[in-house]
Amino acid sequence: MDISLVINFAYVVSAGLFIFGLKMLGSPATARRGNMISAAAMLVAVVFALLDQQIINFQWIIIGIAIGSLIGVVIARTVEMTSMPEMVALFNGFGGMASLLVGWSAIDPAAAGFTLTTIFLSILIGGLTFTGSLIAYAKLSEKMPGKPLVFKGQAIFNTLLILGIIASGVMFVQDPTNTTYLYTAIGLALLFGVMAVIPIGGADMPVVISLLNSYSGLAACAAGFAVGNNILIVAGSLVGASGIILTQIMCKAMNRSLINVLTSGFSAVKSSTMVIEGEVKPMSASDAYYVLEAASSVLIVPGYGMAVAQAQHVVKELQELMEENDTEVNYGIHPVAGRMPGHMNVLLAEADVSYDLLLEMDQVNQRMETYDVAIVIGANDVVNPAAREMEGSPIYGMPVINVDLAKTVFVMKRSMASGFAGIDNPLFFKENTRMIFGDAKESLGHMIREFGN
Ligand code: NDP
Repeated sequence: MDISLVINFAYVVSAGLFIFGLKMLGSPATARRGNMISAAAMLVAVVFALLDQQIINFQWIIIGIAIGSLIGVVIARTVEMTSMPEMVALFNGFGGMASLLVGWSAIDPAAAGFTLTTIFLSILIGGLTFTGSLIAYAKLSEKMPGKPLVFKGQAIFNTLLILGIIASGVMFVQDPTNTTYLYTAIGLALLFGVMAVIPIGGADMPVVISLLNSYSGLAACAAGFAVGNNILIVAGSLVGASGIILTQIMCKAMNRSLINVLTSGFSAVKSSTMVIEGEVKPMSASDAYYVLEAASSVLIVPGYGMAVAQAQHVVKELQELMEENDTEVNYGIHPVAGRMPGHMNVLLAEADVSYDLLLEMDQVNQRMETYDVAIVIGANDVVNPAAREMEGSPIYGMPVINVDLAKTVFVMKRSMASGFAGIDNPLFFKENTRMIFGDAKESLGHMIREFGN
């Protein structure tokens, strides 16, 4: 039998499994199985790609798999849960670098113009995804300030950069043997990744993360065309398309258009004219217990601090104790809470919190006035009423969970420090807010002990 027929049949099976897997990732109930199915699809794709007759040397492939697997296993086993978003950013970046290298290795002076164009695109998109993701990694891990970095003449510089990339692309396609054009294209692509991500920061970062995710898929898709591999084209387009959908969801969550995010240095261009009135009213976790004990409905709003404190299991424990006490408990999930898309869902799923209790922002905002208590656990930007009330605020217009409209608000955090966007939060000064200072896990532990007494 023709081997290429078998390989292409396996690719069709693999593509089908990818699509089923993706569909299953759409619901928390099926997400784990969806992940397994997608991983199986990838295994089928890799095994059958290795059967390709054009492979001339297995030695380097085996060495590459061994080194890559070793690094992957060590990193995945040792990474802290709180560093997952940074790791995802690095994964995107290395995906981009892989596409760049595949494109580079596929350069063939005899290739048609179309193939040379896809080679150029895999180098361009792969390169900018690599450096863009490294900057995103540095911002997320706070190795670099999270704020937008803008300088005078940035727009002109970027325009020249884009023109340079187009020119080098045209030259490269016309004369792929001239390494000057190739190295110029690679250099400009790497520089463009840096320039595209440094002016974006603060609360806009989720959009960048999902966009880079999409770019890594598009780079793989272009690499698939460059080497004529159908499953790479399909898998790359699936990642590219789902990344774009996620980007759209994130833009909607920030109430901003993609163009607006990409072209304005967000916080840098708006001046903050915030004047916050009111006083901070601290409360002990033990006193907070008495309020919770008397509450008939409670909304829990988790944020990045829950991930830092690793408080998801104690949150679940408190939820069960309140339910035993006949209190209705819901979780309000903001789409950009935490540091990666779906961050809160992942943590709560790890603690086996039932999916039915997780409500979206719009659902909880509609009935916020009916909650006796809203407990904010390490969230800050996603519950900041300045987004609604303060026109000068950098997050003005971004939809937030309106916890301040609940009857009482408990905010659990360690200090008065601001969140990722670096802006003050008037919620902490509201009449109905009580601040429960300390590590969220410890404060929740105190409450749980009070319930047990
Ligand atoms: P924030 O970053 O706004 O706030 C987190 C809060 O948690 C901090 O104010 C901190 O206060 C508190 N905290 C930290 N550690 C602990 C602890 N151990 N116990 C209790 N509290 C703690 O988080 P949000 O989830 O509200 O908002 C997410 C932000 O991150 C948004 O600006 C979003 O745009 C951005 N972002 C989101 C991404 C995504 O994909 N979801 C990606 C990149 C950025 P203190 O230090 O006083 O304890």
